Amino acid sequence: MKFLLDFLHQKTPKSGAEGSAYYQHALCINEKLLAAYFVFCFFVLGISTHHWALEPVVLFVATVACIMNNNRLNPQISTFFYAMLSVVWCLWCNWFVGWHYSTHLLLLPVLMLSFFNIYNPPWLKITACILLFVFRMFLFFQSNIISPSLTMEGAGIVFQIINSLVLFLILSCDAIIFSSSIQDTERKLRLDNQELHKEAGTDVLTQLPNRRSMIDVMERFQKTMPHEVFSVAIADIDYFKKVNDTYGHNCGDYTLKTLAALFRKLAGTDYSVCRWGGEEFCFFMPGKNIDEAWNAMFEVCNEVKKTPLSFEGKDFSVTITIGIEENDFRSSMEDILEQADKKLYMGKISGRDRVVM
Ligand code: GH3
Ligand code: MG
Ligand code: MG
Repeated sequence: MKFLLDFLHQKTPKSGAEGSAYYQHALCINEKLLAAYFVFCFFVLGISTHHWALEPVVLFVATVACIMNNNRLNPQISTFFYAMLSVVWCLWCNWFVGWHYSTHLLLLPVLMLSFFNIYNPPWLKITACILLFVFRMFLFFQSNIISPSLTMEGAGIVFQIINSLVLFLILSCDAIIFSSSIQDTERKLRLDNQELHKEAGTDVLTQLPNRRSMIDVMERFQKTMPHEVFSVAIADIDYFKKVNDTYGHNCGDYTLKTLAALFRKLAGTDYSVCRWGGEEFCFFMPGKNIDEAWNAMFEVCNEVKKTPLSFEGKDFSVTITIGIEENDFRSSMEDILEQADKKLYMGKISGRDRVVM
């Protein structure tokens, strides 16, 4: 099975328009099978009827020419040539050997290709469908009027089997190629979507989740676990403007990144942290009441104070002030965050470098 799948994908170009690449690949496989089929037909018809018709050879040569030129032609023209090969063959067989060997079923892959060609506008697909239907009916009535000039006798069974086999092979290959094309495209889209979603929820400087994605997480928690306790905390770096003014904006960025990494390390899997905006961070602590949250935030506050910072040869350190609020099972997320922010403000006016609950 793996061999078959690899075979079907071996010539699929990795670049360019994906839809077209899959389509061209399917067309090419159809034509290769058709070329092999014409060779078989030449011998089967020749041996069984003792009439070595040149038409299968001519069609074989024409098919090989199509295969070699597929990459140069646009998909619509390639499909047109493929359709012409099938049409000419159906006409010829209907005329000389009759209706009963199912050669007219080789029109079905043409129908399939015309529908799967992404460059075909809908009107062209419908037109192709109608034309193929009309042509098939024409073949049927033609076979009722004209009696075949070649009789195949016992070898008719072989011809019938070859016709059915090649039809099933072509249709199966097309189905495998087009269904894997759809699955591949869907998987790629899903991955791209996940990546975009992640990027949209990540702060570029610190690589922490941003405010929007944190609010999503908190609101989802509140909705799905309405009876579960949690606490939130907002932390703000003290006198951060001074860091920028004294050591430069790049040093301010460095400080934000260093503290973000520290917060991420301290939070581990116990709680989550995001960049709330500017030099503020927000902590979300599911399952923690305000006392447990205070212990966690006290550790954060102490660790920040103890962390030596060094930028372009200048050593310094910073402190932070944190306000904490616990879920009271009545207030909205917005109100709980506002309370945490008020406590942060109280911490600022009462001297900074502290945790207020
Ligand atoms: P307080 O203790 O009252 O919080 O004082 P503060 O100086 O920290 O507060 P203030 O609001 O006066 O200043 C915050 C500064 O943070 C101002 C702004 O330039 C700086 N800041 C905000 N975002 C960034 C950033 O992404 N990078 C850098 N380097 N600085 C930033
Ligand atoms: Mg601030
Ligand atoms: Mg500040």
